[in-house]
Amino acid sequence: MTGCDDLRERVIACRRCPRLVNYREHVRIRSGKDSGEIFWRKPVPGYGDLSGKLMILGLAPAASGGNRTGRVFTGDRSAQFLVSALYEAGFASQPFSVSSDDGLHYSGAYVTAAVKCAPPDNKPLRDELHNCTEYLSQEITCMSNVSAILALGQFAYGALVSLYREEYGSSKFPGFENGGHVDVHGVRIFMSYHPSPRNVNTGKLRREAFVGLLYEIRHYLSSNRSTTNNL
Ligand code: SF4
Repeated sequence: MTGCDDLRERVIACRRCPRLVNYREHVRIRSGKDSGEIFWRKPVPGYGDLSGKLMILGLAPAASGGNRTGRVFTGDRSAQFLVSALYEAGFASQPFSVSSDDGLHYSGAYVTAAVKCAPPDNKPLRDELHNCTEYLSQEITCMSNVSAILALGQFAYGALVSLYREEYGSSKFPGFENGGHVDVHGVRIFMSYHPSPRNVNTGKLRREAFVGLLYEIRHYLSSNRSTTNNL
């Protein structure tokens, strides 16, 4: 089966990357969060509105986030930053994302990651990204209205560049630039630093700038402009 209806189930059942399967099933986290809590420990599928126009693409689930809670960008500090900003810009129903049953819904947006399993040190290997790109490709296909993708960080942007090069022969992508964008095959790819605690705590990624970018994306999506500079 390769349809959209069973995409979530196929992702969750995947065991294609032995290193990541071992890590996701055995990793421990330092905080007290793991005391008595049953971790998800499976691939973390995307979550949100597949009929929306915006995809938000992260790197991979965190050991203390998606691998623990079972929902992408849920239960860690990256999620806290991202979802509160999405709420302010009108894409999320509430300003927090703490557990898979907390009631969060996205409106017009679908959130996922380039690699669906938590990797050691948040660093997937090239082969692991390659293995998982099939699911990202299917997610983009299933988002029949997608007009914009927000790549959170250089890794996510690189995953999109590889995918579009491989599937459409697209070329001439610019390098990653925080706040930049590129148009490719009817989709505008926006770029932002990843909302990791390191980027946020050092001031590399500031909330005002990130929310501003979300409003820029919202304006783009509502302006009915079509992308003309398809690489
Ligand atoms: S990273 Fe992707 S391809 Fe690899 S095991 Fe997880 S879901 Fe499967």
